[in-house]
Amino acid sequence: MSESEQESFGKKHMAIVLGIGLGVVLLTIFVNRRDRQAFLRHRKDPSERLRSLDAVSPTSTLEQWWSATKGKLGLSEAVDGQFVCAVCLEQVNRSQEIRELQCMHVFHRECLEKWFLGDHFNCPLCHRAYFVSDAPPRNDFVWMV
Ligand SMILES: [Zn+2]
Ligand SMILES: [Zn+2]
Repeated sequence: MSESEQESFGKKHMAIVLGIGLGVVLLTIFVNRRDRQAFLRHRKDPSERLRSLDAVSPTSTLEQWWSATKGKLGLSEAVDGQFVCAVCLEQVNRSQEIRELQCMHVFHRECLEKWFLGDHFNCPLCHRAYFVSDAPPRNDFVWMV
């Protein structure tokens, strides 16, 4: 390879590296912006967010839930459920509306909604994730500087 060939190879190489670098930066900005917008949209509309919670956490009364679940768990009629909501630590009455999570833990409907709207996507009891957020991770502020 002659010296001039080496030089032009070097320039090409440099251009490729710069191009990739620029591409990554632009992509990061683009992705981050889109996430940020989705995040802000979510912030503005809690009822929209609660609808997405419905998909992973059905609402019913404790009475309905218990009569369905008792059978599923194979418990006898004699075993009766006393439920305490782990969010407010108060007992859940049979006529109250509850939300059930996939881990089969139940909470007052309003309590779990508050929990969810506070950006908690894990079960308050067993910490199992019940919802995958499409909001950006919490290090979002890094990109805001
Ligand atoms: Zn509660
Ligand atoms: Zn749980």
